[in-house]
Amino acid sequence: MKIPFAQFDTLHARLRQEMIEKFSAIYDRGIFILGEELAAFEHEFAAFCDNAYCIGCANGLDALTLTLRGMDIGEGDEVIVPSNTFIATALAVQAVGAICVLVDPDPETYTLSAAGLDHFLSDRTKAIIPVHLYGQTADMDAINQFAKTNGLKVIEDAAQAHGAKYKGKISGSLGDAAAFSFYPTKNLGALGDGGAVVTGDLQLAEKIRAIGNYGSREKYRHDLSGVNSRLDEVQAGLLRVKLKYIEETNAFRKHVAEMYLAHIQNDLIVLPKTKEDCAHVWHVFAVLCERRDELKAHLEKAGIGTIIHYPIAIHKQKAALNLRYDALPVAERIAANELSLPLYYGMTNDQIDAVIEAVNAFR
Ligand SMILES: *Cc1c(COP(=O)(O)O)cnc(C)c1O
Repeated sequence: MKIPFAQFDTLHARLRQEMIEKFSAIYDRGIFILGEELAAFEHEFAAFCDNAYCIGCANGLDALTLTLRGMDIGEGDEVIVPSNTFIATALAVQAVGAICVLVDPDPETYTLSAAGLDHFLSDRTKAIIPVHLYGQTADMDAINQFAKTNGLKVIEDAAQAHGAKYKGKISGSLGDAAAFSFYPTKNLGALGDGGAVVTGDLQLAEKIRAIGNYGSREKYRHDLSGVNSRLDEVQAGLLRVKLKYIEETNAFRKHVAEMYLAHIQNDLIVLPKTKEDCAHVWHVFAVLCERRDELKAHLEKAGIGTIIHYPIAIHKQKAALNLRYDALPVAERIAANELSLPLYYGMTNDQIDAVIEAVNAFR
């Protein structure tokens, strides 16, 4: 049995008709940028996130960068980022000229905790970007409390956590602003690139919208220096179709994860841990194994595709990044030991069982 790491077949077969009808409508309407699909998607996605405003943009990296710019975070400022995130979180901080202060995450949940953050504060610290890594929200109450005490902004990197919850509150409503990506493989994925910022702050929302549209609030009048980062009509329209199914697709992901959690039993493998107050959306099912590369090869032999999220920690990358950090043992352990198992909408029980069996057979 061949089991890819991820595939769209089942979802796309199911949505085919609706997606094609949506595309036809946009094609015939002839408006491709800043039209009614984007306005409707922004409205619907803000509501989904239980927040007031959503601004579509070109991708998740831009969503982070535009938010930092909107908050006037820049040259010489410091932003706290978990050490084990995808590179985009650090690149956004870099893009505005700020210093990325890397902090090791909680070794159990792999997300940022507020414990020990004191140590990383300076008088230049302006914001914290907790990342809801793999689909689990970070320890938001403690992080928000810490931020409030120290006058910092909190930007959720929710690129992996559409629909995830913390104490019953949904991601996108847990900080001052949240950045989402709609990269095709994310829990809500476009058929290309896309991103969005969600916030409850009207002034910030308007500023971010202007920066992403050439710094313009009114056509040909440019009060801010901006960029071109917009979510186009085709992607917005197709995302509207997919958004209708996200509860169902997230529930399916949870079903697969629960099967893995209940039936994978192997002393060589550390299963992911979910905090009681978190509703995980399982963007990634991450196991740790000290002999990770052997496990990957073993699964490959059984026809099972896996991915490593991420093989090289940010502070070990060759790219010239403006970083500050102490020792980062947790990030290094995750980079050395992490392996993500197949998990996608439409996986059959036979496929799920085959993954479980193969993982359990690893010696
Ligand atoms: C995917 C991702 C991003 C970047 O999103 P793009 O749309 O690919 O630019 C940022 N942060 C995290 C944690 C991600 O997983």
